[in-house]
Amino acid sequence: MTYKVGIVGTGAIGWRLIKEMDEHKDYEIAGFAKTSTGGRFKDLISKYPFYVSENINMKKYSFDDTFIRLNSRKADFDKYNPSGHLLDLLLKTDIIFDATPNKIGIQNKLLYEHKNLKQKREEIGLKPLKVIYQGGEKPEVAESSFIANPCYDKVSNETLNQRVVSCNTTGMGRVLYSLLENKKLPEIDRAYNTLVRRSIDPSSKKGSFIDAFKAEANSHHGHDLNTIYPNLKIGTTAFAVPMSHFHGHSLTILFKNNIESEDVEDLLKKDSRIAVINPTDLFSGDLFEISRQFWNQDSYVVAAQVKKMSDFDDSLEILLAVPQESIVIPENIDCANALLTNKSKKQSMDTTNDLLKIPEIKQQLEHELTP
Ligand code: NAD
Repeated sequence: MTYKVGIVGTGAIGWRLIKEMDEHKDYEIAGFAKTSTGGRFKDLISKYPFYVSENINMKKYSFDDTFIRLNSRKADFDKYNPSGHLLDLLLKTDIIFDATPNKIGIQNKLLYEHKNLKQKREEIGLKPLKVIYQGGEKPEVAESSFIANPCYDKVSNETLNQRVVSCNTTGMGRVLYSLLENKKLPEIDRAYNTLVRRSIDPSSKKGSFIDAFKAEANSHHGHDLNTIYPNLKIGTTAFAVPMSHFHGHSLTILFKNNIESEDVEDLLKKDSRIAVINPTDLFSGDLFEISRQFWNQDSYVVAAQVKKMSDFDDSLEILLAVPQESIVIPENIDCANALLTNKSKKQSMDTTNDLLKIPEIKQQLEHELTP
């Protein structure tokens, strides 16, 4: 059986989802919805049905008992012969990936969960719509937040929606999963993380600063991680700096007993989506160049370097490099599998890893960036 996918918003995350879901044998693209003709629009309309979306102003909407469509459509879309409005797409798809900018997903939720949509879907024999939101939305947008390893088994075919956490939370969450799950390691007492974030994505026109940093103490990332690991004591500080590829992290973990960095390295190496590296200096330019050389820039894995902190026998520092635009793609695919299919966690993660060539990427990064 193949499941039909709709993608709403085709920026940094959305177009990657279209590309990979199109390659996936269990899914087919029902269409995409967009508010503008920017970005990859021309390429996408040559391949997939296109539906018009708009920023929702509920006053403009005229839902009635028969699920009336929006009465305003942007004229500049007409020449592209759209297949309909976002509402039409919602009647042709099993699952929606909402990859719109922060705070738009929560507005679109009004459409996805509208009673008339539910009724109309029932009339034409469709199951309730499943929706995956992205990490820019507040956790309350969905039933729960998602990272594949800790969350897959908590999601079932009865679950209606999930929120795949942001790139940074995914990076930290993958690493902490191994440490929290392994009973042979000492327990974590607490963790602190300082993040250095890219100020914009390479494709963004929004503008950045060129000689400044922006800092946020007690940033949302630690709180976001607690949506996955509620009992973990963690604090985070986030800096944004003028760069566009990768986020860097310095994650300091204090354990309740002494810890050996080799034990943690060995453990992290077993995780299929973590590349354990040990360069003299962790330079994001190296990761970028290797990614560009071998697999077209998207590397999906978090790169981790584990270091003992001088005389602190109970603490480790783990440096992380997070490829911000691609790290959440495997989690989105696993999330769709968890919501729709009967695949086990292992089956899902293995097939997603194979689809995205993650084993080769991990192996290449570890090979190139370890002495
Ligand atoms: P983006 O700005 O690159 O793209 C957003 C897309 O949504 C654009 O195509 C825009 O035209 C479209 N859009 C805007 N309003 C819309 C509407 N009402 N209906 C349909 N389409 C609409 O954004 P992004 O970076 O891809 O981020 C999307 C989500 O993913 C956000 O929640 C973000 O926090 C999250 N996220 C982003 C990154 C990243 O590095 N960019 C990483 C992880 C998670």
